[in-house]
Amino acid sequence: MPELPEVETVRRGLVRALEGRRLASVENRRADLRFPLPPRFRKRLTGRTVESVGRRGKFLLVGLSGGLTLIAHLGMSGRFRVFDGPLPPLERHDHVVFVTDAGTTVRFHDPRRFGFMDLVDTADVAGHPMLARLGLEPVGEGFAGAVLAARLKGRRAPIKAALLDQSVVAGLGNIYACEALFRAGISPKRAAATVQGGRADKLASAIKDVLAAAIAAGGSSLRDHRQTTGELGYFQTAFAVYDREGLACPGCTCDPAATGGVRRIAQSGRSTFYCARKQR
Ligand SMILES: [Zn+2]
Repeated sequence: MPELPEVETVRRGLVRALEGRRLASVENRRADLRFPLPPRFRKRLTGRTVESVGRRGKFLLVGLSGGLTLIAHLGMSGRFRVFDGPLPPLERHDHVVFVTDAGTTVRFHDPRRFGFMDLVDTADVAGHPMLARLGLEPVGEGFAGAVLAARLKGRRAPIKAALLDQSVVAGLGNIYACEALFRAGISPKRAAATVQGGRADKLASAIKDVLAAAIAAGGSSLRDHRQTTGELGYFQTAFAVYDREGLACPGCTCDPAATGGVRRIAQSGRSTFYCARKQR
């Protein structure tokens, strides 16, 4: 499932492909993704100019001329593919196709169809039902220990569960929640409410750092991918603890054969990976 860094990488790819371009044609090859596409989808999009490609959590916000915004979410398996040159044949799961006045083709491909698209007046984006309750945006200047601490106050859930709650931090998923807690030296089992002060500062920095590193890795994968498949946004970065059960964590001096190494536990139905030695 794409996480925030993947979505940000997709956003950057779409900026290059779409920003400042007019949508010469739009085709939806079926009437629904996860939900029905909005009425008159093609007609309302065709002819508009893409003024911006933004992001809120894991939602892409394509700002169009005339005060309209296309909201898109990749779901479980959605991907955008960009073609500047010769087009490969359409595939079965290419559901939406955009062609710009520069001749660039962008295809939305989604085999599992958990992705969705909606059209809203730009003035109403923040109040859209999918966006209205989103929490702090973890990439950017506004995110810091104090605002994170305020959101965690009074929460008795484990910090790992609180980080996955989209009304606390927008767009943070399982992988980067594990990695950020490791980097901050905070146990995933610690009560969220106790992450205050210096601990919250450390966690906010750790979240920013792991996301920034992943976005940078995505940027390099973008350059590689564009030349071959045109696909935006799927890449693998090196993780410290995620999916590393039984292995030594970076910087650990203990012998994993003696201590068991990185542990895996289940929290809210998801696997949490952590080092019991370094995370308190
Ligand atoms: Zn360790």
